[in-house]
Amino acid sequence: MTSTNINTLELISLQNQLLLSIGGSLDTHEVMHSFMQTTLKKLGLKGIHLYTYDKSLSDNTQLSHYLSIPENNTEFKNSSGLNIILQRFENIEVNSHLSELQNNNEILAFAFGSFGILLLEKKLGKFHESLKDALLPVVLKLAEHYHACEQQQRLIKELKINKDAQRAYELQAKRDPLTNLPNRREFRYSLFREISNSQRYDYYGALMYIDLDNFKNVNDSLGHSIGDILLTQVAQRLVKQARQGHNVFRIGGDEFVYILSNIGNTKTEAVNASQNVANRVIETLAKPIEIGEYSLHITPSIGIALFPSDFDEDNDSENVLRHADTAMYRAKKQGKNCYAFFDPEMHVEASQRLIIEDHLRKAINKNELRLEYQPIVNTDGIIIGAETLVRWESSVLGKISPEIFIGIAEESNLILEVSKWILQNACDYAETLYKSLPKNSQFCYISINISPRQFIQNNFIQSVTSVIDACSVPNDFIKLEFTENVLLDNIDITIEKMQKLHSNNIDFLLDDFGTGYSSLSYLHKLPIWLLKIDKSFINDFYAEKNNTQAIINAIMVMAEQLNIKCLIEGVELQEHVDYFKKKGVHGMQGFFFYKSMSGEALQELLSKDIKKTEAV
Ligand code: C2E
Ligand code: CA
Ligand code: CA
Repeated sequence: MTSTNINTLELISLQNQLLLSIGGSLDTHEVMHSFMQTTLKKLGLKGIHLYTYDKSLSDNTQLSHYLSIPENNTEFKNSSGLNIILQRFENIEVNSHLSELQNNNEILAFAFGSFGILLLEKKLGKFHESLKDALLPVVLKLAEHYHACEQQQRLIKELKINKDAQRAYELQAKRDPLTNLPNRREFRYSLFREISNSQRYDYYGALMYIDLDNFKNVNDSLGHSIGDILLTQVAQRLVKQARQGHNVFRIGGDEFVYILSNIGNTKTEAVNASQNVANRVIETLAKPIEIGEYSLHITPSIGIALFPSDFDEDNDSENVLRHADTAMYRAKKQGKNCYAFFDPEMHVEASQRLIIEDHLRKAINKNELRLEYQPIVNTDGIIIGAETLVRWESSVLGKISPEIFIGIAEESNLILEVSKWILQNACDYAETLYKSLPKNSQFCYISINISPRQFIQNNFIQSVTSVIDACSVPNDFIKLEFTENVLLDNIDITIEKMQKLHSNNIDFLLDDFGTGYSSLSYLHKLPIWLLKIDKSFINDFYAEKNNTQAIINAIMVMAEQLNIKCLIEGVELQEHVDYFKKKGVHGMQGFFFYKSMSGEALQELLSKDIKKTEAV
């Protein structure tokens, strides 16, 4: 089409074709593309370009390139004359056109509504004036449609933002903002649902209540922001080790719960499964959490309640939660970093414990405690040492095993008072005994059991050394026995404490060795003089499948390499004696040789220099 041969009919037809090319699409780019392509073709243009006002700028006067057809027509887009042209057209009024000649070819500009400028580049010569006017309503229509598209797209975007906001809001209502774990409200729904499922499908589930031990200390001493990071990391570890179908929730400050779904059809299966999970939780938290310069040790106390519950016909979720909470407190009382099951009998037991605790508190003043000593012999049957064992005969409750009352004392600070009494009296006895030993006696130590709670006291070193130093025997005549539980605390502090005492010539015996799980990797770092291989190994001595003898051998080889002596406890049979005599242990202790006895009885035994020769 040229500027000369154009008639009205042709113009109307062209208008129609161009209007049709606008189409009904609501995609701005699609609309513009289709229109510009048709116009380029129908009008025989060199190029067609749309510039729109930059919406990101508030003054809205900056034009920016939107689309050119042909799309690779960069020549015009980038030409230096462009800015001049645009400037020239900038003040173009709505519903009007302006033109400019460039190299004798006309560039026609239309105001694109109030949204920008549309430029038509003639290939050769000029546009027909009537064509320019005929294009005006088409461009106006196009601009209107463009505006409609833009508005529609904005609405869609807003709607999406609203939807996202709505979704985020809904999610937030279900999540704990700090850890992003499902929150207490979600937990209630889930527990309710899980309990009804367990009843309907006849399987067991468990609620595991996890409370972090001494978390308050972290908050108090290092501040809430460190506390928050710690909680987030704990949450991550808990989520990481949770198996499918096990859900983790944060229901309070340092309280997390697991809901274990379908963990067995029998109670035994359910107990085993939840024990496994509880052990894994303890394990996963055992590794210190590094936050900046801090290396934090955090341990959990875990309460477990199974459902459906035997104890509550309604199987009310509130009750299940209360049971788990009660069990968690029990775990705390048992020394933390452990788990406990809910069991109604525990209420009875708890009150019994209170009674024992109450009487034990008065036992020292009532002079009801006394010490006994169990001899330790070498492979020749000669007594080389003795372990101090405490005894309590209550005037009200009768004889109570140390396993029971030491355990109860351990749950409160009462153990500190009892331990202080034991240490003082054992040292007093050591002094008496030492003086009465025959000249050539091979008896060289008295060992004293140290409770974990006693060990972790800040003043432990000072309180122990002051008593031992005041005792007129060589320091290595008194040895301290402790179990692996002590190592579960802060290992660095443990090492430091032991080394300090060791430098003061006080030796350590690691008791009940082989029953814990933490010591092996630390053993070489600790100044341990002797390992007491736990008596449970002796009980399993002939159980082939447990490889007991192989384990004992391995322990002894390892101890030898670390230059640590070995003692076997709980020796009751001649076979044991024969076996360990061959192995060449440092010492043996057990009912086969001697039970524990009074201080006087031991003194008498030693003064006679008795030897169990018939046995060894
Ligand atoms: P333990 O430290 O492992 O003490 C050894 C226990 O094994 C003692 O029980 C001892 O009588 C027993 N035993 C010794 N030889 C044999 C044997 O051949 N066969 C068997 N079946 N048992 C044997 P006891 O006196 O009832 O003490 C139990 C636990 O109570 C001790 O285990 C220790 O953990 C704690 N305990 C006892 N006295 C003290 C103490 O003075 N302080 C502290 N903190 N704990 C103590
Ligand atoms: Ca012991
Ligand atoms: Ca022991």
